[in-house]
Amino acid sequence: MNDLIIDILEEKETKVELPENLVFGKIYSDHVFEMDYDEKKGGWYNAAIKKFSNISMHPASIALHYGQSIFEGLKAYKQVNGRIALFRPEKNVERLNRSAKRMCMPEVDADFVLRGLIELVKLNRAWIPTKPDHSLYIRPVMFATEPLLGVRASESYKLIIMTSPVGPYYPEGFKPVPILVTDKYVRAVRKGMGDAKTAGNYAAGMLAQKEAKKEGYSQVLWLDGIEQKFIEEVGAMNICIRFKDEVATPMLTGSILPGITRLSVIQLLKDWGYNITERLVSLEEVLKASENGTLVEMFGTGTAAVISSISKLKYYDKIIHFDEVNAGELATKLYDELTGIQFGRVEDRHGWITFVD
Ligand SMILES: *Cc1c(COP(=O)(O)O)cnc(C)c1O
Repeated sequence: MNDLIIDILEEKETKVELPENLVFGKIYSDHVFEMDYDEKKGGWYNAAIKKFSNISMHPASIALHYGQSIFEGLKAYKQVNGRIALFRPEKNVERLNRSAKRMCMPEVDADFVLRGLIELVKLNRAWIPTKPDHSLYIRPVMFATEPLLGVRASESYKLIIMTSPVGPYYPEGFKPVPILVTDKYVRAVRKGMGDAKTAGNYAAGMLAQKEAKKEGYSQVLWLDGIEQKFIEEVGAMNICIRFKDEVATPMLTGSILPGITRLSVIQLLKDWGYNITERLVSLEEVLKASENGTLVEMFGTGTAAVISSISKLKYYDKIIHFDEVNAGELATKLYDELTGIQFGRVEDRHGWITFVD
């Protein structure tokens, strides 16, 4: 692969005016990383960091018609010591390559892309907000660019990494949110593409999400695609269910996205001596546990919100009530630990932090 061309913008081209309230993913920093792929050219080429701009696409681009499109999401944090940190970024590049494989897309040189990502964050450093719990969200996206209406894998692709300054996911603070269980729609099925971070999975979830919103719920709890019996994910987050003597998270059956926050939460819970299990958890088991008093708390895990505590869970006429005002005890402890590591307030015992500078 050729080397990275870096086009450092002049100061007058880089305006950094961050508004008071940052809406998630609305503002983009002035530098982007771009790289192209063409089978006929022997692979990836044109790797460059350049000025953010619109792109021109052929209307028959395969990504638009057949959905060959994958993405990632991670954050850069301005730590309390002033250094810029990434949280387990190598895991995101690894997962990008796993998603690529599933969607019949080319893999990238993981070290090269990670290096490009780090250079990009360095150049966009003025865009990293310094307010508490603010960060620079990093969004890599790869999509098929070959113009062809025939259904087959594209022979050309584009990878773009953009960055966007973001505030905390819940601007009102770390408060629990109401969740609606759906069995009317499913997000993914085993052997499908639920474990790939690919565009179609999110389109599949939007109608359910919209209907839940209308009923006053902030997210949907997804059940398995075959029987609608086992708990899978909550919105675009993994889920943990804390029983009296166990913290359970759905095992990775193939229809669940293997979250990096999930992986980190499992490790922290092991460190702290919790009985953490990865297994099938049925909705019925959770409803029963709620009735007999052995259900303690439930929370989602993901990069955007970090930890998202659940206030109530509705399934038809059954409603499980948790604390509607305060986040769960373990959810809060995990949130504090993870954000503590990310912002440099807590020791990074597992070597999860990569410094950019
Ligand atoms: C991205 C994502 C997650 C969370 O993954 P993290 O690596 O923890 O951010 C969980 N579920 C879905 C469907 C996702 O897209």
